[in-house]
Amino acid sequence: MKRISQLFLDFQAGIRGSLAERALQRPLYATPDEADPQSAPVKAKAKKATAAETTTQFDETLTEQCRQILHALDLSGAVKLVSVQWNPRLRSTAGYANYPSWRIELNPKLQEFEGQVNRTVLHELAHLVAYHRAGRKKIEPHGVEWQRACVDVGIPGESARHTLPLPRREVKRPYTYACAHCGLKVKRVRKFRRGSACKQCCTQFTGGVYDSRFRFVLIEDDSQKA
Ligand SMILES: [Zn+2]
Ligand SMILES: [Zn+2]
Repeated sequence: MKRISQLFLDFQAGIRGSLAERALQRPLYATPDEADPQSAPVKAKAKKATAAETTTQFDETLTEQCRQILHALDLSGAVKLVSVQWNPRLRSTAGYANYPSWRIELNPKLQEFEGQVNRTVLHELAHLVAYHRAGRKKIEPHGVEWQRACVDVGIPGESARHTLPLPRREVKRPYTYACAHCGLKVKRVRKFRRGSACKQCCTQFTGGVYDSRFRFVLIEDDSQKA
C-alpha cells in the first residue's frame, strides 16, 4: 500500500518555576488520539511493531539548533531543557510541543518532505517560547504571542496548521458501482451486499423505501489488479 499520506526556567523564572509548572497544565498541541500513546488503536498496533517503530528517538542536531536559537533569545534556562525527539506513533500530526517540559516531538514522515522538518521544529519551538513568555497568562495556541515568537525564531508568517503535508493513507477501492437510475458512481473497498441501492434516488422517488430500480450495479472490478 502506498503512503501518499511543543523549558521552562530561564534564570529568573526558575524560582516561580515549580509552582507555575503545576498551575499550567498545558495541553499537547496535537489531536489527542494521535498524541496519546494510551489510545486503543495505537496500543494494539504497538504490540506488533518493532521497537524502532514505536520508540521515541532523541535528535541531537535539531536539539542543538533549538538551543542556539534560545540562547540568542536570552532564554538560557530553556537551553538546558529543550529536546527534540522523533515520535513514530504520530500519524497525521506533523509535530507537537509540550510545555513546560520543553519537549518537541516530530513525525518521522516529515523527513520525506523538503524543508518540513526545519519548519516544524521552529513552529513548535515558537509555541514553547510563547508559553514561556506568557507565564501564567493564558494565550491562544496560534495567537499574537505565538506569531511574535515565530518571527523571533525565524519563521515570520508561519501557518497555524499542524497536520501538514502528510497525505492520508490511500485506501484501495477496487469496486466501482453505479446507480441504475441516476448514474451516481461509488467506489467500494468491499463488494456491496446484494440489494444495496442508491439512497439519493430512494429518498427522492420512493420516500426512502428500497426499490430495485435504484440498485447499484457493479460496473468496474479492479480487485485482481496489482
Ligand atoms: Zn502550532
Ligand atoms: Zn441514484
